[in-house]
Amino acid sequence: MSGSKARLDAVRAVTSYKATEPPLNFAETPASEIFGVNVFSNKVMRERLPKSVYKSLMATIKKGGKLDASVADNVATAMKDWAIERGATHYCHVFYPLTGLTAEKHDSFLNPDGEGGAIAEFGGTALIQGEPDASSFPSGGIRATFEARGYTAWDVTSPAYIYENPNGTTLCIPTAFVSWTGEALDKKTPLLRAMQALDKQAQRVLKVFGAVDAAPVISTAGPEQEYFLVDRNFYFARTDLMTCGRTLFGRKAPKGQEFDDHYFGSIPERVLAFMLDVERECFKLGIPVKTRHNEVAPAQYEIAPVYESSNIATDHQQLIMITLKRVAEKYGMSCILHEKPFAGLNGSGKHVNFSLGSSTHGNLLDPGATPHENAQFLVFCAAVIRAVDRHQGLLRAVVASANNDHRLGANEAPPAIISIFLGEQLTDVFEQIKKGGAKSSKKSGTLQIGVDSLPALPKDAGDRNRTSPFAFTGNRFEFRAVGSSQSIAGPLVALNTILAESLDYIATELEAAVKKNPKGLNAAIQKVLKDIITENGRIIFNGDGYSEAWHKEAAKRGLLNLKTTCDALPMLLKKEVETMFSKYGVLSKRELHSRFDVYLEQYILSVKVESNLVLEMGRTKIFPAAIRYQNELASTCTNLQALGYEFDTKTLDRVTALVKRLQDSLNGLEELKKHHAKDTMEEAKHMCFAILPNILEVRAASDELEGLVADDIWPLPTYQEMLFIK
Ligand code: ADP
Ligand code: MG
Repeated sequence: MSGSKARLDAVRAVTSYKATEPPLNFAETPASEIFGVNVFSNKVMRERLPKSVYKSLMATIKKGGKLDASVADNVATAMKDWAIERGATHYCHVFYPLTGLTAEKHDSFLNPDGEGGAIAEFGGTALIQGEPDASSFPSGGIRATFEARGYTAWDVTSPAYIYENPNGTTLCIPTAFVSWTGEALDKKTPLLRAMQALDKQAQRVLKVFGAVDAAPVISTAGPEQEYFLVDRNFYFARTDLMTCGRTLFGRKAPKGQEFDDHYFGSIPERVLAFMLDVERECFKLGIPVKTRHNEVAPAQYEIAPVYESSNIATDHQQLIMITLKRVAEKYGMSCILHEKPFAGLNGSGKHVNFSLGSSTHGNLLDPGATPHENAQFLVFCAAVIRAVDRHQGLLRAVVASANNDHRLGANEAPPAIISIFLGEQLTDVFEQIKKGGAKSSKKSGTLQIGVDSLPALPKDAGDRNRTSPFAFTGNRFEFRAVGSSQSIAGPLVALNTILAESLDYIATELEAAVKKNPKGLNAAIQKVLKDIITENGRIIFNGDGYSEAWHKEAAKRGLLNLKTTCDALPMLLKKEVETMFSKYGVLSKRELHSRFDVYLEQYILSVKVESNLVLEMGRTKIFPAAIRYQNELASTCTNLQALGYEFDTKTLDRVTALVKRLQDSLNGLEELKKHHAKDTMEEAKHMCFAILPNILEVRAASDELEGLVADDIWPLPTYQEMLFIK
């Protein structure tokens, strides 16, 4: 192994890596004993709160009633005592600004007692409301810096928890973050509103089906998180990974993922130790992590919890991302959540499994076994089909980011065209509905929805389609276009709201039909299903989403193909999107527009930082290495020719041409960066269609040079080193 000094040192550090922490001992403290120890859970509350307070709080949490302010003092005291017993010195309101990250402001429990001492205090007001200085969070114009007031408000439905640090622990309280005018500055507020809207409309549909006094319908989410692990020594030797989360340079390794030998392969020991530690930390926080495995690309892995209510799943997902990053450091590695850290290898996504259900009805997207339930299932399933077809653009917009553009629209997991994979059996059922409804089916004769029996649908659709951005997977839908570094709140806000809208439509149709003719429910269901499948069936596609043929077919069907963030984000501003969000009280026009502004700005900033870095690395690392080697070749050539030897200058010619190409493209990039855009949309387009291609041009020259320049002067850790030395 040769390589520059920095690279050699890195390799040495990796290969002689020794664990710094004593091994975890699960025999001493079994996982079941650890689970939820740091959570102010229902159980803790039942034990510690006066009965009436507990009851009132539970009513708010479970039935979504208004919070009784008088209980807050009681809860705050119990929470404080519990936290201090566990070593907490501070409390903090955790909130989720539009950056997609997690923000927190810490305050000490201690207050001066006026006699030179201090006492621990934490009252209801401090629990319910906080006021972080909000001026530095993006608000998209909702709030000017001079009117920076923003409030955090306790979200009772997401449990408080203790976050550990070797030097003391902190009581963390999940909160919503709003401006002084009550407008949402965060990702949690619209999610709570959207879940409420979905509940309301789902109840109406259930009521038509005869449900009385139904429990709240809650949307559920199970996010599968993909990530890369790279040794920290390599990470710090790559400014691009460190600053942008992805490699801006790097020649393909001689061996990549083509052997498919990494997927579900045995997990390297250091990585497994890391995973066990992550899981243990998650368990303590009450996060039900369940699945771990190697992913397709070398050095790529996945972690998935069991699904929870969308709100809690979202908070937990944020914690999982933080925990992955934090624990990786302990094991000498860096966890990379970027959607496309390595060119030519699979990127990382976050498959969001999504369904809805209630304690009395169970999972409403479960096909079930009895005909009655099947009819109900088909109605909910049709609502999803209608929602996704009508709002393809919105679904594409909520997963749009500079990072995710490298996955979607590029030829890999899911394409930029939103479509639904239903599987053969369900597609067949809907085809039959379209043709009139009464058809024979394999198992149970006639198929007459709601009257005669439907074939029992298998819980696990036999076939799987990995290319579909939105797939039915037996008892839920899996939204696969979500990016690995994204908050899942945005996608869930969209899913809850579009589904609420379709259920509203269906409920209105069915209610009217039953009112006219109390015996007309079955016919009305038939009609609504038929209408939906006729109108929105074009969104169903069970074939290969990567194929050229599908792109053509999708265009024929009139489906959107929004390749970049610049194409996708404007979908947020469509009239029908705006109307829907305000109708269901999820986002006002101003709130929606502010999100468009913030996301566009973030896109511009991301690409800008990348271009800064490409220039810097290109000029100060790659170019010097290239000319050093060029010089070496040139002097060899001159020396040999002076001695009368013939020397083939082919390599020198190639290097010289590439050095020129590198220099030209760097100069070109510098010129392009001087561009003054007239508005943000134009600037975003400049980033997308001028800057990004130029970044690729610099990279192309550099990557080719990497294959020619002497290894001992190449300044950056190679793909081979980063991905295969573990
Ligand atoms: P796969 O990799 O085969 O897609 P995983 O087991 O990795 O599946 O992840 C499936 C995810 O779907 C898990 O998080 C699981 O809890 C979640 N899930 C299962 N049922 C539901 C549901 N009703 N609502 C939401 N998510 C669900
Ligand atoms: Mg999956």
